[in-house]
Amino acid sequence: MTWPPVSSEDTREQRAAEAEESAALDARPRHGRDCVDGWLGDDEHDRPIPCLECRPHLARRRRDVST
Ligand SMILES: [Zn+2]
Repeated sequence: MTWPPVSSEDTREQRAAEAEESAALDARPRHGRDCVDGWLGDDEHDRPIPCLECRPHLARRRRDVST
């Protein structure tokens, strides 16, 4: 069997490029100026404000909150 489908050097280079790309994507979300790990800091009552881009499941209608 002397039929290498791809040169190993090419494969290695491509893998490195892909790893770099995904690392850059993971590094920092670009949507929010103040988004840190999915949080936007505290509101006036010192409660953490979820970034709804990162945590859409935390979206709540504030008027429904009774307390
Ligand atoms: Zn965010």
